Amino acid sequence: MNKLLSVKNLTKVYYNNKDEIEAIKDISFDLYEGEFVSIVGPSGCGKSTLLNILTNMDTLTCGKINYADNLKLGYMLQSDSMLPWKKVIDNALLGLEIKKDKKEENVNYVIDLFKKYGLNEFRNKYPFELSGGMRQRVALIRTLALKPDILILDEPFSKLDYQSRLKVSDDVYKIIKNENKTALMVTHDLAEAISISDRVIVLSNRPCIIKNIYKIKRDKNGTPIENRKDKNFAYYYDLIWKDLAYHE
Ligand code: ADP
Ligand code: MG
Repeated sequence: MNKLLSVKNLTKVYYNNKDEIEAIKDISFDLYEGEFVSIVGPSGCGKSTLLNILTNMDTLTCGKINYADNLKLGYMLQSDSMLPWKKVIDNALLGLEIKKDKKEENVNYVIDLFKKYGLNEFRNKYPFELSGGMRQRVALIRTLALKPDILILDEPFSKLDYQSRLKVSDDVYKIIKNENKTALMVTHDLAEAISISDRVIVLSNRPCIIKNIYKIKRDKNGTPIENRKDKNFAYYYDLIWKDLAYHE
């Protein structure tokens, strides 16, 4: 398998006045092409910090990250961060506009994605006219518009109610698989992580270290909703639950 990303002994310390906050302590993992990997950990443990470092929005203190040649990362944040005064389609084209890459071919790709994923009739509506789940799909399309190799997702479903969360995670999973993307997703919801991923990386409380990395084995790989019915689901849930329990 083709290795896209390799994190080696990553450590992050924030320095505020005289205080030092150690957020991440000596984390190492790899990400391979086609994988869906989730990172779970308690809130405040350093998950968003890790993604910000991976996407170059923050710096690391020690360690090294190796990226495959010409690797493009797409970062989808927790909130869908739509501009309310712009139509949905223009929101989806925003990344291309900022990159000054709004050529016909790229615009057509976005329109195709709208058609493929049931959003075409909402193209000229405003964000408030869409459900939270639809907005999340638009946010995903906006990220896909830049044709990233890896999608980096920070708690993408956490703002949704439980029912839509299940449905939207199925939709997002299908889109990511259909478009042949590799994904690295942060969540604090272990059921979500187990049901959507090939591997789950479990972090400790801050400063986070890796407690365990699980390869999720199933009888048959399905969508996240189907995977929740797999006979191994409860087994992994129990293991990761114990990893996340507060010991110290
Ligand atoms: P998570 O995403 O896992 O909830 P974060 O990565 O956002 O956690 O934060 C991890 C820790 O790092 C928190 O204790 C937070 O207060 C601290 N932190 C995050 N950003 C900064 C910053 N810019 N300066 C100082 N401390 C920060
Ligand atoms: Mg966070």
